[in-house]
Amino acid sequence: MINRALRASLLFCLGTFFASGTMAREKPVVFVSIPPQAWLVKRLAGESVEVQTLLPAGADPHTYEPSARQVKRLSETALVFTLGLPFEARLVLQAGKLNPALKVVAMDAGIPKHGAGTHEHHGTEPGHVCAAGGDPHIWLSPRLLCAMASNTVAALEAALPQQGAALEGALAKTLDDIRETDEAVRARLRNAPVKIWVVYHPSWRYFAEEYGLSLLVLEQDGKAPAARHLAEVIRHAKEAGVKVVFAEPQYDVKPAQTLATHIGARLVLVDPLSEAWPSLMRDVAKILAGD
Ligand SMILES: [Zn+2]
Repeated sequence: MINRALRASLLFCLGTFFASGTMAREKPVVFVSIPPQAWLVKRLAGESVEVQTLLPAGADPHTYEPSARQVKRLSETALVFTLGLPFEARLVLQAGKLNPALKVVAMDAGIPKHGAGTHEHHGTEPGHVCAAGGDPHIWLSPRLLCAMASNTVAALEAALPQQGAALEGALAKTLDDIRETDEAVRARLRNAPVKIWVVYHPSWRYFAEEYGLSLLVLEQDGKAPAARHLAEVIRHAKEAGVKVVFAEPQYDVKPAQTLATHIGARLVLVDPLSEAWPSLMRDVAKILAGD
């Protein structure tokens, strides 16, 4: 009963927040950590919320340190969707102290991650962020993105109960679109000439698993590769006949450029943090298929 009462009061607080936002003819603001989450929330919530992204453009989500201004901005909202990124824990804890009604929703809830420790989610108390770590690049798997979409809609329905039917409709449409993208990527990669995929930063592990590819990663523990590791990757990539090397705009492209030059491959810059999720997926498949 106590839990139910707490939940009701939390919903009431959120309701009041969203209602007052509407009164002022301003949309309620929902925060996300990175642009692909913004794509998802915008798809699902449509015009009913304003989505803002915590990670500044060009920043590295693994090492980013939020400013006091970010804490204040976040504390002025009611709802934030996390993903299990390192910068979220302190940010959400500090914002939660300024605004105890801040609702923190783990968009990655229930999604098993590579390299994650054992961890249980403890409901909705402010400041709780999954700190068990693990590979956070789950949005690059269509299957895991569908799970993120379901988590998101559950939280939006609690915050905006009057939007329930619209949210359910948007969820069905979004899941259809994600599956359609998945099928297009799968079809294109079925006959990809090379199944070894060379990347600088290991963003694409979940994607690679989904489509039967193996990743060769240049970066070592978040740092530029040692000469020995670079030589090893060059040897493997040459043997496999790799024709394209992926680098990301958030990191130094030099090691990837060196590798590409050595093996006579093309260097491509692809941003896995792009908000345009469907075209990101299709573009990557196109590059890997050698089209
Ligand atoms: Zn990353």
